[in-house]
Amino acid sequence: MPETKSTCPYCGVGCGVIIESEGAQITGVRGDPDHPANFGRLCTKGSTLHLTASPAVQRSARLLQPQWRRKRGAAPQPLGWDAALALAADRFADAIRAHGPDSVGLYLSGQLLTEDYYVFNKLAKGLIGTNNVDTNSRLCMSSAVAGYKRTLGADAPPCSYEDLAEADTVFIAGSNMAWAHPVLFRRLEDAKRARPEQRWIVVDTRRTETAEGADLFLQIQPGTDVALFHGMLHLMFWEGLTDAAYIAAHTRGFEALRDAVRPWTPKEAARVCGIAEADLIQAARWFAQADRPGEAPGATLSMYCQGLNQSAAGTDKNAALINLHLATGQIGRPGAGPFSLTGQPNAMGGREVGGLANLLGAHRDLANPAHRAEVAALWGLPSVPERPGLSAVEMFQAAADGALQALWIVCTNPAQSLPDQATVRRALERCPFVIVQEAFGSTATVAYADLLLPATTWGEKVGTVTNSERRISRVRAAVPPPGEARHDWAIGVDFAHRLEQRLPDRLNGRLNGRTTLFPYALPEQAGDDGRSGAEQIWNEHRESTRGRDLDITGLSWALLDEMGPQQWPLPEGEAQGRVRLYEDGRFPTDDGRARFSAAEFRPVAEPRDARFPFALTSGRLRDQWHGMSRTGTLGRLFGHVSEPVVEVHPQDLARRGLKDGELVRVTSRRGSLVLPVQASDRVAPTLAHIAMHWGSEVLTGLGTDGTPIPGVNGLTNPAFCPGSKQPELKHAAVSIEPA
Ligand code: SF4
Repeated sequence: MPETKSTCPYCGVGCGVIIESEGAQITGVRGDPDHPANFGRLCTKGSTLHLTASPAVQRSARLLQPQWRRKRGAAPQPLGWDAALALAADRFADAIRAHGPDSVGLYLSGQLLTEDYYVFNKLAKGLIGTNNVDTNSRLCMSSAVAGYKRTLGADAPPCSYEDLAEADTVFIAGSNMAWAHPVLFRRLEDAKRARPEQRWIVVDTRRTETAEGADLFLQIQPGTDVALFHGMLHLMFWEGLTDAAYIAAHTRGFEALRDAVRPWTPKEAARVCGIAEADLIQAARWFAQADRPGEAPGATLSMYCQGLNQSAAGTDKNAALINLHLATGQIGRPGAGPFSLTGQPNAMGGREVGGLANLLGAHRDLANPAHRAEVAALWGLPSVPERPGLSAVEMFQAAADGALQALWIVCTNPAQSLPDQATVRRALERCPFVIVQEAFGSTATVAYADLLLPATTWGEKVGTVTNSERRISRVRAAVPPPGEARHDWAIGVDFAHRLEQRLPDRLNGRLNGRTTLFPYALPEQAGDDGRSGAEQIWNEHRESTRGRDLDITGLSWALLDEMGPQQWPLPEGEAQGRVRLYEDGRFPTDDGRARFSAAEFRPVAEPRDARFPFALTSGRLRDQWHGMSRTGTLGRLFGHVSEPVVEVHPQDLARRGLKDGELVRVTSRRGSLVLPVQASDRVAPTLAHIAMHWGSEVLTGLGTDGTPIPGVNGLTNPAFCPGSKQPELKHAAVSIEPA
């Protein structure tokens, strides 16, 4: 039975899998014992992947041929690839000619492979000439990106999974990694079993499964993370627990930060966070390893995810946590450092190729003229556009306002996952031409497509992904694409060739004698599974990293095939990637010093009030992934949690005369949902929690304008962080009444 090594397509742990197949059918999956992310382990989602590729699922859930709608609301009709891409190119060319390049937008996904991401980014910024290319990674990791850049100088997570075993204190903030990153959490449990003295501090608004294992649990009020981190730093200053030598040698901005945290006494910070002052003090001392005087310095590792990122103060939260590491010298050593856990399988790869509206490839900044010139030179173009593009929330708001003529959505489901779904619905209805490129035909966004393009998915795709620890893994095809599905990058390249023909004036002189900006072999030309073209794209991306912080000029697909997954950076001439960054105390800033961030505490964007007295949060379930387009095809994955509920504290139920299991109406300023209430002491009084996964098929509500809204994001707030433009999906003020 053929076996193919590949990578799990779900979370950012990036587990290696071995796919078993027979002919065109995937028949089994097991963990790859040689993959350094998981050493053979898989969670419930990964271990059932083969079942999501069964013939029954392929027939019922997959998009298998291009389709178009003559008019909105009509049933989609099949058409061939040639006609489909001609239609797409005609409509995009018409929009660009009549309204300019910024009249179109591309919305991508952290589930695309690096090669897919590269092509669509080049299509927008190189060929079309717009920076209106963003991704659902904006909803996921953009605050982590902005936090790293503000403090450490580059979007580079400094740690590795092996640091979990080396840490003496593990500080987990805003992450239910027991469910969201299960295999990594197993590694952490192993570390604690091996060294019971390892201490876990968990910070969350909800007593999650991760918090169950904590030595110290800080159940803070939503949005108060910066107050907590400033209060901890205040205590560290007061008790002399900071590392003066490290601060002096490797940082800047210490005085401003000291002034910023002066008002944040432990007492005041604890009051704002809603926790005991003694617990905050304990957390600060454990973080600073205060009880190890005279011993070798202990190591503190922070791990964090959407609780910090999905916030209107997301960048400040990330930076304030990194402040603690810099102030205590807890970085660049085994077991020490700030470590963002990536939500999606390849949000990292997207960041590496610059697939966001404010970034360029290889961690270059759009706002930097020298970086723009470098990318233009790499692509052989006179320039790339300067004007900042629309980020995810902005792109759909612009479409709702009638400012976009065409929108191309690739491998993501904004009609469920973006906040304020009433606005998203208006955007999709108002935009004159919407392309949805998808593997699954069951997503809410598919219903809004004028043109549907069937894409390949896990088990069929070829390329690379990067996981949370900067480790690049190969993704390999075990079976051929079903029906007429094509690789995402190949669809983009075929479209680009057609757009180049339709916009000769625009390209006049820009191609410098070349026939195309996209000289990659399509699978049908190369006669292969897509490897030749994907590797050509990878090689172009690899060259773009030369001399950058993520330099991978020493990494080839041949080396990945021979040696297995590798961490970046891996420059030419080096034998292996770097396990840990900043061990020499030098940071990728102008002067080599890290920057403290004197961020001010800002409360949530939409505070509770008399009309909306509950704080609503959302989160992941153990056995589901995003909008359930894949995991929702398996009945067994509903055995853990079978239906959506809103968790509310028993005291709140009693106060409102509600009973466990009763239907309630949860209402925000943007809409309302009806669902069962569940008594839960996991949430504090006046907090409520709804899992993020259920959409319109199970959980439909009404927007304030009377339109249907799908799932929890019908209620959530589109307010976003000014630094990262990541929306505050983790908090909305709501009321809860009997239905
Ligand atoms: Fe896949 Fe993440 Fe589970 Fe690993 S932990 S098997 S990457 S979902």
